[in-house]
Amino acid sequence: MVTDEKHNARNRKYSRTPKGRKSYTKKNWKNRGLNMDTFYYVYPIFLNATNCERCGVEFEDNNGRNQKCMDHCHITGIFRNVVCRNCNVNVIPHIGKNKK
Ligand SMILES: [Zn+2]
Repeated sequence: MVTDEKHNARNRKYSRTPKGRKSYTKKNWKNRGLNMDTFYYVYPIFLNATNCERCGVEFEDNNGRNQKCMDHCHITGIFRNVVCRNCNVNVIPHIGKNKK
């Protein structure tokens, strides 16, 4: 019988493998409203990106301002850019928000 502790340890290990990360990312983006028909081509772009497409900062894997984020249109769900977290939170999410 597998204890919860062992099960969790196995899940943590899996989440650090490329396959585990991909599955986690997929679930995460789906929840955020990305058009999942585009996932197969967005994901490699996301993986290979090293710098923010908006401000050019180098990505860091530290949950901080420079963490890699996927920016998508909140209306259509279509992927736009790979940006740092700092740029992602400063993006105007809705088209036409600045219209008079
Ligand atoms: Zn940026």
